[in-house]
Amino acid sequence: MSQPRISSTRSKVVALTGAAALVGTALLTTTPASAIPGNAHCGSEAGNNTNAFVNHAQLTKKLQQIEQTTGGTVDVEAAGYSNQGREIYQARVGHGDTVILVESQIHGNENHGTEALLNLLPEWGGNTPAAQALREEVTIVAIPRLNVDGGEHDTRQNHMSWDEVVEDFPQLAGAEPAWNYRSSVPGFDTNRDFNPDLDYVPTPEDFPGSSAGIGWYLTPESQTVREVYRDLEQEFDTVDYFVDLHNQWNCYVVEGTGDYTPLSISARFIADPTEFGDWPKFDYDASRRANVAVYDALQGQGNSGFGDVTLYPQDTNLPGTALGSFALRGSATVLFESSSQTQYDGSKGNGKLTKQIETGLDGLVDAVADGSINTLDPDDYEDIPNRTFPSGD
Ligand SMILES: [Zn+2]
Repeated sequence: MSQPRISSTRSKVVALTGAAALVGTALLTTTPASAIPGNAHCGSEAGNNTNAFVNHAQLTKKLQQIEQTTGGTVDVEAAGYSNQGREIYQARVGHGDTVILVESQIHGNENHGTEALLNLLPEWGGNTPAAQALREEVTIVAIPRLNVDGGEHDTRQNHMSWDEVVEDFPQLAGAEPAWNYRSSVPGFDTNRDFNPDLDYVPTPEDFPGSSAGIGWYLTPESQTVREVYRDLEQEFDTVDYFVDLHNQWNCYVVEGTGDYTPLSISARFIADPTEFGDWPKFDYDASRRANVAVYDALQGQGNSGFGDVTLYPQDTNLPGTALGSFALRGSATVLFESSSQTQYDGSKGNGKLTKQIETGLDGLVDAVADGSINTLDPDDYEDIPNRTFPSGD
C-alpha cells in the first residue's frame, strides 16, 4: 500500500465560511424496541457474531492482497486516519471519466457492505475483457469500512469524546454537545456529521443541531470522506455517483405481502433542496435512475431470493448524512440498507446478504459503464414496494 496522502487530521481543519444550521422536525424512522428480536433471522439464530467479518488487521491484509494480485490495478492507500489512529483505506480502480464513490460501514456495526467490496474490488481489477472494458468507462473509488474504530469495537458510533472535539475546535468550548453524540460510547453517529458546504466551520450557534439540520465535519472519519470527495470533485468536476452501504433491522417485510425483505434502497434524503441554499446540481432523477438500476439488477436474479427489494422510508430529510450532503452537491445517490446488524444476526445469512450487495452494486456499475442507466425511467422508482414492520408476530 502506498503512503498515506493525508496525515492524521485532528488539527487540520481549515476555517472558511460559516453556515447556520437549519433546525426542523426530525423524521428519523426508529425501530420499536419491543419489535427487535433477541436473535437472528427474526428468532432463529444467536446475535452478536462479529467473527464472521474481517477485523482491521484482516481488512488491511485483504486490501494488500487485492492490490498485489491485481498488479496495482486496484490502488490502495490510506486516505486518512480514524480518531484512534487506524488507517481509513481508499481503493481506486478504473480510469474512466465517470466516477463512482462507494463507502461502507460508516456505522461500525454494519459489516456486509465491507465484505461485498472486498469481493468486488478484485473482480473490477481483474483481467477479464468485461473488467477491462469497465475500467475504460468508470473510475471506482471505494472506502471499505469508513468507521474503522466502530468496526473494531462493534458500535454504530465512532470513538471520540466531546472534549476531543473541543480540543480540535476551541470555539465550541461551552457549546452543548452535538445531538448525535453519545457520551456512553463516547462517540458520534458519523453519518450525521456531513455538510453540503465542504468548507463549513463549526460555530457554537449551530449546536446541538438536529436530524433535520446539517452536520459539522467534527470527526476525522467524516473529514476523511470530505477530502476524498473534494479531490474527486476537483478531478472530475462532479462526483457522479455516491453509494453508501448500510444495514438495518433484520425483520422488515414487503408492504402488503408479509414477505421478508433482505434489502431496502433509497434515492431520497432531502425533502426540499432549496431549504439548504443554492445547489443547482442537485438531481433527484439521476438518483432515482441509479436506484432503478440497482433494483433491476436484483430483480434479474429471478427466484433466487434476492427479488424482494423495498424502498427505505421516503419521508426523510437528512442533510447531515453523507448521502444528503453529497446529493445537494450533485451526486446521484444510492442508499443500501441490507437486513441485519451484528447485534441482531449470526452468520447463517451473511453470504447471501453480502452477495445481494455485490449484485446490486455491480448492476449499477455496469449500467453506468455501458450507458444504459441513461435510458432508465426515473418514475420506475415509484413502483418499488415499500418496507414495513411485520404484523401479528
Ligand atoms: Zn447505517
